[in-house]
Amino acid sequence: MNQIKPNRPLVAIVGRPNVGKSALFNRLVGRRVAIVEDTPGITRDRLYQPAQWRGHHFTVIDTGGILFSDQDPLTVQVRAQAQIAMEEAALILFVVDAASGLTPTDQEIADTLRASLRPVLLVVNKTDNTRLEQHAAEFYALGFAEIYPVSAIHGHGVADLLDRVIALLQQEKALVPSDLKEEEESIRLAIVGRPNVGKSSLLNAILGEERAIVSPMPGTTRDALDTHFTWSEQPLTLIDTAGIRRSGKVQGTVEYYMVLRARTAMERSDVALVVVDAEAGITDGDKRVAQLAQEAGRACVIVVNKWDLVDPQILNSKGKLSAASRSRILKFTEQFRRECSFLDYAPLAFVSAKERFGVTSAIETAIEAAQNHAHRIATGELNRLIHEAISKHPLLDKGRAFKVYYATMVGVRPPTIVLFCNEPEMFHFSYRNYLENQLRAVYPLEGTPIRFLTRKAE
Ligand code: GDP
Repeated sequence: MNQIKPNRPLVAIVGRPNVGKSALFNRLVGRRVAIVEDTPGITRDRLYQPAQWRGHHFTVIDTGGILFSDQDPLTVQVRAQAQIAMEEAALILFVVDAASGLTPTDQEIADTLRASLRPVLLVVNKTDNTRLEQHAAEFYALGFAEIYPVSAIHGHGVADLLDRVIALLQQEKALVPSDLKEEEESIRLAIVGRPNVGKSSLLNAILGEERAIVSPMPGTTRDALDTHFTWSEQPLTLIDTAGIRRSGKVQGTVEYYMVLRARTAMERSDVALVVVDAEAGITDGDKRVAQLAQEAGRACVIVVNKWDLVDPQILNSKGKLSAASRSRILKFTEQFRRECSFLDYAPLAFVSAKERFGVTSAIETAIEAAQNHAHRIATGELNRLIHEAISKHPLLDKGRAFKVYYATMVGVRPPTIVLFCNEPEMFHFSYRNYLENQLRAVYPLEGTPIRFLTRKAE
């Protein structure tokens, strides 16, 4: 399966049923034959596909593939699709049908799309020249300046359309220049924590074990230093902010520097490695740092450093974890879970930077957290899961039932889900947790926070 790169701009195809969205989708992603779907539901494969044109890469989403329940009226469905496109895409292709002319549903979609800040290209499909001329005037009435006549089936007009798509994506700066790609694929790790927990020691321990340092070079901010290296073929960037504490000119407390340092490092990171001191246990300062990571929407791994002080005999004579060591780790973990329930998704890594113990496994945990942070759930699957979860455990209040018409992931890093629902104010904390846990039970989301947004839909 083609891997969808989260950094590639999304181009959304919107339009009422039967205008030829799937045909256009297949044309853009380079499929010769339309896939006949005989299983219910939509796979991620089908809905999002990588596409490229003249060396520029982007991702196409066919919003027509998003599943709705049969009860939802057509207008609700198409408006929702348009809304999803507006939330998710860098550019929208609004498809209408030259053969059938303008319909009230097209008008409905146009009304929704007009609010979009994104460029909208009106694609008049099933065009032959005489028909287009006949219909041009009425399609202009939809209010979009740029009209592209195409035949998705035969391919006429598609090259012109794609040239325009690429030009607009470039204008929007949505395309990643090729020389940035390497860096974009790198996972960025920020090492954060209170003073003296062992951040610098951990950094050195990691760099002591790394396979090949590519280049230590100044980061984009004065106080941050980025170190690029590869770890089992995965490019990693360590973001360090060692300079901040040394800046003597700025007045402030230790706490102030800690927060400043953590914030600066996390701004450009994917994963926060929150380092804590095993001997000191979890302090309020540690919790504050972890909270910063959560608020910033970063993936998070709790690195319990100086474990050698808690357990000097961590490995037995056979190089294995002893039963006593395992039970110490378990005890620490349980206490952490009790005290920091808000971070229940964050894995713990037990290390000794000094003894170089556990460093490899901490990095591997961080890489996994970064992958989970960018995990996309296909809309069809997501809707099935949410609808099942709600019917299994409905949310009722004063005779009203909370209803989700449809759910969609509008972004990753962190995974962000929009619920189009009847009563957003009913969606309280514990129900949010319930849905979150249902997702976590099925998808690889360890280490990443998940965001839920609610939107009222009639
Ligand atoms: P930072 O302020 O978070 O960067 O902390 P440092 O890396 O400067 O470490 C603070 C102190 O803790 C130093 O004296 C280190 O030698 C010590 N230290 C760091 N990691 C470990 C460890 O894994 N085990 C032990 N015993 N000491 C450590």
